[in-house]
Amino acid sequence: MRKHIVAGNWKMNKTLQEGVALATELKEILAAEKPNCEVIIGTPFIHLATVSELVKDCVIAVSAENCANKASGAYTGEVSAAMVKSTGAEYVILGHSERREYYHETPEILKEKVDLALAEGLKVIFCIGESLEQREAGEQEAVCKAELAGSVFHLTPEQWKSIVIAYEPIWAIGTGKTATAEQAEEIHAYIRKCVAEVYGAELADETSILYGGSCKASNAPELFQKPDIDGGLIGGASLKAPDFKGIIDAWK
Ligand code: PEP
Repeated sequence: MRKHIVAGNWKMNKTLQEGVALATELKEILAAEKPNCEVIIGTPFIHLATVSELVKDCVIAVSAENCANKASGAYTGEVSAAMVKSTGAEYVILGHSERREYYHETPEILKEKVDLALAEGLKVIFCIGESLEQREAGEQEAVCKAELAGSVFHLTPEQWKSIVIAYEPIWAIGTGKTATAEQAEEIHAYIRKCVAEVYGAELADETSILYGGSCKASNAPELFQKPDIDGGLIGGASLKAPDFKGIIDAWK
């Protein structure tokens, strides 16, 4: 059976001290009440080593929010997949719409990042999703398929096992507008069909597909009840431990 996952994406929030405090609070809450799903926290680079050490004996896994598309060398300010791996992090989020939009990450660049991350033994949470304009033009399926084809459908079936997909309609990220559970289920089922066309029904069935976009404790239960929604990638609501725990509890 595929994994149910609730993953946080802190984005560019929290100083090191604030991040350690948040991770500590979450660790204590989850030690008191075991989650019914895999829990991941995606933190800025500077938190990775400290937070990985802090949660190493508990249920929480750690993710980076990005990595470089180069293996090493003269790329000032960049952080490689090998460096991420060396912190103890298990995952990296790639293809987030904020990276695509503000940092001009193209499908080709993302493909390089995915390959380097997998080569280092990281698992990848790969984000896809359409803009409001594309949704209004009915292009959401074509956009998602193209984003998958452009950056991850070249992987071998073995490599595919390290991929988690996050469907995040851009119009729902940080806007308070959530896709309805029906809208989300429709596209999740389509994404799974696309995966099946490339990797077969069995691997598609084992692929976790997360929903992201203004997901919170109040709407998570309805979303997570849908057969093709395997959890969430959570931005704003991952910044306070009780809010994040409320979403984790949707799997109870
Ligand atoms: C995200 O950026 O991955 C996200 C889903 O953000 P939010 O939950 O704040 O909409």
